[in-house]
Amino acid sequence: KAGRIAFLGLGHMGLPMAANLVAAGYDVAGYDVVPAAVDAARAAGIPTAESALDAAAGARIVLTMFPSGAHLLRAYLGGPAEPGLLAQADPGTLFLDCSTITVEESREAADAALAAGHRSADAPVSGGVVGAEAGTLTFMVGADEADLPQLMPLLEVMGRKIVHCGGHGAGQAAKICNNMILGASMIVSSEAFVLGEKLGLSHQALFDVISTASGQCWAVTTNCPVPGPVPTSPANRDYRPGFAGALMAKDLGLALAALQSTGVAAEIGPAAAAIYQRYAAGEGATRDFSGIITDIRHASAG
Ligand code: NAD
Repeated sequence: KAGRIAFLGLGHMGLPMAANLVAAGYDVAGYDVVPAAVDAARAAGIPTAESALDAAAGARIVLTMFPSGAHLLRAYLGGPAEPGLLAQADPGTLFLDCSTITVEESREAADAALAAGHRSADAPVSGGVVGAEAGTLTFMVGADEADLPQLMPLLEVMGRKIVHCGGHGAGQAAKICNNMILGASMIVSSEAFVLGEKLGLSHQALFDVISTASGQCWAVTTNCPVPGPVPTSPANRDYRPGFAGALMAKDLGLALAALQSTGVAAEIGPAAAAIYQRYAAGEGATRDFSGIITDIRHASAG
């Protein structure tokens, strides 16, 4: 099919994404710096390589799914003791980064890839581990038009909705804008439910109004922060994620960096970032981001 794909970063998201590519008949060489992740990938039927450079040797596409932009730039550029992927890959290789990182880092990585004679695309995802396993992720793509014919069939294996947002970094830009709305709307929705409790409203009555009135939003209709109205929401399983507060704090940190570097006069986005940073430093490290309602309720007691 599209030649070999080096799949680097076989964590919570990367492993199931790579498994879907293998199942669709793609020639995948996986690698992760954590040996246990490599073992888990092999057990899931994903062919693995001895190193990132081995995986990338002869690959047409180098796909990365890393925790941060620092990991990405280190892998691309290498260090004093280790050569980077950009210097080692065949000329014209498509470097496809699906990690969530800052717009600046994403553009820096793309510039470095292009300067080394390669091609580059950013395609961060939403949909979480469940979407990665089911192959129903949403991809937000920043890429040259010319690379879309090669990218689309590949992304369609791992995702259901693929949006080409513009040139390099545009995928990251769209992702942080969306998640800034999500974080802020979850906080204010949780405040509204706690206010409703104080005013004697039942969760169901308030949900029935919000979900059909102008306060309607994903935070309420799909990820409702109180148990009951939406049986599949994490609130019904003691806020087991879902989408952990720590990941929301990370994404809002990226949004905050972009707000500051562009000089946008935002007030809600930075407040949401501060609230989720605090949540992620405690229970939110492992609980769903909708568990923020518990903090609001506690702080409102008495
Ligand atoms: P993770 O930490 O489980 O996986 C990342 C993997 O990359 C780790 O196994 C790590 O060992 C590996 N890695 C780091 N440097 C490497 C290198 N040089 N070579 C090979 N492997 C390397 O993280 P995750 O939950 O899979 O998330 C990955 C990315 O996707 C993050 O940027 C995250 O923000 C984003 N994301 C996650 C979710 C989610 O629900 N988990 C949802 C949307 C987006």
